[in-house]
Amino acid sequence: MKLFNTLTRRKDEFVPIQPGKIGLYCCGPTVYNFAHIGNLRTFLFEDFLRRGLEFLGFDVTQVMNITDVGHLTSDSDEGEDKMEKGAKREGKTVWEIAQFYTDAFMSDMQALNILPAHHFPRATDHIAEMITQIQQIEANGLTYQSGGNVYFDTSKLNDYGKLAQLDKQALQAGARIEVDPNKKNPHDFVLWFTDSKHGNQAMQWDSPWGRGFPGWHIECSAMSMKYLGKQFDIHCGGIDHIPVHHTNEIAQAEGATGQKPWVNVWMHGEFLLIDQGKMAKSGDNFLTLQRLVEKGYHPLDYRYFCLQAHTRKELNFTWEGMDAAKNARRRLNDKVLALPDGGAIDASSLERFKAVLADDLNMPEALAMVWKLLDDSTVPDADKRATILKMDQVLGLNLGQVVAVEIPDAVRELVKQREQARADKNWALSDQLRSDIEKAGFSVKDTGDGSVITQL
Ligand SMILES: [Zn+2]
Repeated sequence: MKLFNTLTRRKDEFVPIQPGKIGLYCCGPTVYNFAHIGNLRTFLFEDFLRRGLEFLGFDVTQVMNITDVGHLTSDSDEGEDKMEKGAKREGKTVWEIAQFYTDAFMSDMQALNILPAHHFPRATDHIAEMITQIQQIEANGLTYQSGGNVYFDTSKLNDYGKLAQLDKQALQAGARIEVDPNKKNPHDFVLWFTDSKHGNQAMQWDSPWGRGFPGWHIECSAMSMKYLGKQFDIHCGGIDHIPVHHTNEIAQAEGATGQKPWVNVWMHGEFLLIDQGKMAKSGDNFLTLQRLVEKGYHPLDYRYFCLQAHTRKELNFTWEGMDAAKNARRRLNDKVLALPDGGAIDASSLERFKAVLADDLNMPEALAMVWKLLDDSTVPDADKRATILKMDQVLGLNLGQVVAVEIPDAVRELVKQREQARADKNWALSDQLRSDIEKAGFSVKDTGDGSVITQL
């Protein structure tokens, strides 16, 4: 199998550390708000990867962290604490915010048919592991204390920034607008904040350096090593994590153990653009899965939408694109439903499918193969069905299942109002309500037995 490795910037032959087994770590959500569909694109990519590796016969252990402490609004130690920000916004405690958005995240994962990771460690449950790792880094002479905080001294690692291919000299020379005066080098970062930085922090723990809280990056190196060992196979995340978060994770892990490389393969998901622009932090362009559902899409329509582009390519989100994905998924499902049972898996189609997965997880091509197989007159229909259902173990589209459509209460209410309007012979209102129902993704038919509602 070949995978594109951000460390080497090329497709490399993938060799697991232990034959047949794979340790996979994915940076999880910071639970201070709903995940937006750009975040969800990354989690979908990681699910395709996990399923693809399992399909090819690997035994995968996947870990995804839940960040519930220490993440500031800037990834590089600046700005407000995200959890405190969420708590202030909603008038709740930080602990309530963490629980609420963790639950919301899990329900999004389930709706998108993303397999749950084997471990979902919460940062706040692993403070002791983080302190131990900071002590190891300290013992190796890579830290200093300044202004009450513990910093990682990046000048002590000669390969700092190798993932991002940062040129340290050039970056040091380049002026940054806001440089923390406590830092010796611009890229140094905080391992442990004491309350000298955020006096009213609700989440605080005792540490050898004083009462405070961990920097954001340390949780991922400490928790991944706890569950996957000191060195492991694959680490994933969004492409925006390359220059700071993942760069610092590597510095911490290799700084603590001295063993290199900490992780063999780094894989990154590209951005989702919204109408060619960046996702907004709030407002109409902050799109959540719930927003898509309210607009009449099934969560799996978004899964289908994301399958159409390679993970390493930007994907532009538009409503027209979502409509196309919705229609295509429904057509595909109808075609599979119409195929007879009782066939056998077509071996040559399956081999080609595996080859596509083994070539850097080419999901758009994997999806295209399903459509091609449907049109292939040399394969019996029943065999097509058996083969496509097998392929769907990776696509995760729940193909061939008759989906019971749940009609939202709001739509039922509109239908009731429309029946009343018809009884009142108010045809203008009745037409208006029909169009509202259609906008919500349903159609209404008038029969002798009353209104029949179907999904569009
Ligand atoms: Zn991380």
